[in-house]
Amino acid sequence: MSANVDIKQNILRYHHELDPLNVNLVAVSKFHPAGMVAEAYEAGQRIFGESRVDELLEKVEAFPDDIVWHFIGHLQTNKVRKLVGNVSMIESVDSERLLNLIDEESARKGIVTDVLLQLHVAQEETKFGFSPDELLDYFRDRKFENLKATHLCGVMGMASNTDDVARIEADFKLIADTRRKILEITPDLRRFDIISMGMSGDYQLAIKQGATHVRIGTDIFGTR
Ligand SMILES: *Cc1c(COP(=O)(O)O)cnc(C)c1O
Repeated sequence: MSANVDIKQNILRYHHELDPLNVNLVAVSKFHPAGMVAEAYEAGQRIFGESRVDELLEKVEAFPDDIVWHFIGHLQTNKVRKLVGNVSMIESVDSERLLNLIDEESARKGIVTDVLLQLHVAQEETKFGFSPDELLDYFRDRKFENLKATHLCGVMGMASNTDDVARIEADFKLIADTRRKILEITPDLRRFDIISMGMSGDYQLAIKQGATHVRIGTDIFGTR
C-alpha cells in the first residue's frame, strides 16, 4: 500500500474517462509490487502491462486467471520460450525474427499467441520497433501468411519524449495511418483492430488520433 497514491481512485477515474470512449486501459504495473496490482484488481482493473518476463511470471502466479497480462517491454529472444503461453498479448513485437520465434514457440506449444507489431516513429534512436516502411513491406510481401500460430491484432507505439505537442500528434497519427495503410494493402487481414498508444503524459493526444488501448503506469501507481 502506497501512502500518497490512491490506486483505486485512479483506476475508477480512468475508467470513468475511457469507458464511454471505448478505449481500453492497460494498467502498467512494471516495477511495482503485487500488492499494488491487487489494489487495482480490487478496483475492477483486469488488463495489466509488464515489461520484464521474470517479473510478469511472478505476478501471473500470484493472481486469478481473469487477469489479462500484456507484455509491453523489449523481448529478448532467449526469453520467448518462457513467455509464450503465459501472457494474453505480446504488444512489443519489434522484429521479424522475434515474430517468427514467437510463432514457432506457439506452434510447438499448440496455442495461438496474440501480438501487436511495434512501430518506431519517435525521434529517440533507442526505441525499438519496425519503421512504418518496413512494416508496409512485410504486408506487401504477404510474409504474415507464413505464420502458423500467431494472430496479428494490430499495432503498438510510442510518441517522441518531448513537450512539442505537434510532434507527439504527428507520431501518433503516423502509427494510426500505418495501420490503415496495412489494411489497404491487405484488406483480407482479419481482426487487425488494435492501436495501442499513449502513456500517462500523452494519452489524450493518442486517443484523438485513434488509440484503442492506452498504457498508463505513473498516473495510476505513482513513480517507479
Ligand atoms: C512504462 C511504459 C508505459 C507506461 O508509462 P507511464 O509514463 O508510466 O504511464 C507505457 N508503455 C510502455 C511501452 C512502457 O514501457
